[in-house]
Amino acid sequence: MKNIPSIHKSSSHSQPQKLAALRQAHQDWTNAPDVLTRLTRRLSTTLSLEQQLAILGDELGAIVPFDTLNYRHRIGNQDFVYATGMGGPHRCEYRLGLEGTNYGTLVLHRRQRFSEQELEGVEMILSAAICPIRNACQYIAIEQASLTDSLTGIPNKRAMDDALHRASLLSERHSEPYSLILCDLDHFKAVNDTHGHVVGDHLLQITAAELEKAVRTSDSVYRFGGEEFAILLPHTAEQNAKDVAERVRKAIAAIRIDGGEKEIRVTTSCGVATFLPKESPLEWLARADEALYRAKHQGRNCTRVFATIS
Ligand code: GH3
Ligand code: MG
Ligand code: MG
Repeated sequence: MKNIPSIHKSSSHSQPQKLAALRQAHQDWTNAPDVLTRLTRRLSTTLSLEQQLAILGDELGAIVPFDTLNYRHRIGNQDFVYATGMGGPHRCEYRLGLEGTNYGTLVLHRRQRFSEQELEGVEMILSAAICPIRNACQYIAIEQASLTDSLTGIPNKRAMDDALHRASLLSERHSEPYSLILCDLDHFKAVNDTHGHVVGDHLLQITAAELEKAVRTSDSVYRFGGEEFAILLPHTAEQNAKDVAERVRKAIAAIRIDGGEKEIRVTTSCGVATFLPKESPLEWLARADEALYRAKHQGRNCTRVFATIS
């Protein structure tokens, strides 16, 4: 029989004590007698920045009463804003930072002045909350990146699939028309072949920007393929959607890029389909694609509608 090394003997000897200490620590931790343990334990249960700020406000307010908590942070291309309560003339403001990176600005308002001791209390609580807040901010940034096309900065195919799903539910629920325009740039391969991929990429970026300029703020533009874009139009019926598609088509045809001897231009074909009750987002997309296919085969640089009304 092999000898058991003494180190194992001694550690197995102290294991019950270690487990007892762990049991005690776990009990203390779950009972959370102190505010910092309770705060960090509660914050660690969620990656939602909104829920974290609610927890922070709850724990902070129990020690330093306040009337309003405002938090603001620009994450990627979106402003995240959180606000509670009704304000007050006295305020304290903190820029939340960790290792040189800013994670937003938190402002407390109330009717009475904040004392030095209270400010010190706020700072201790914020310093315990900053790591979970950093994680929640990073989570939002990653989620945003996963829905954004890296070349053009507009929402990608994944974002479009989510939006089509939501739009079909809303259209059914409120009996409101929703329309979809698909745009596929004409002979784009020739642009790359003639001028190179870098110029092709530049043209795709300009096209995305022009599409966003050509539509209303309630409409959304997506890049869902290489040189394919989609526009989702809430509260828009077939004829109006066709008018928007034509406006968009003309805006793209008006793009000019300096190509040395000759200006570079591009055109697009557009397919339009208005959501039909009971159809799936995929069926809706397929009808818009069929209209686009017709536009391609009937000469390009034109718009075709998958007509549902005569
Ligand atoms: P059609 O009028 O029939 O749509 O012709 P097309 O040349 O646009 O269509 P095709 O599908 O044959 O080619 C699409 C081209 O789009 C091929 C590819 O080189 C180009 N493309 C796709 N994604 C990108 C991209 O990210 N950057 C660049 N520069 N080109 C891209
Ligand atoms: Mg294509
Ligand atoms: Mg094309």
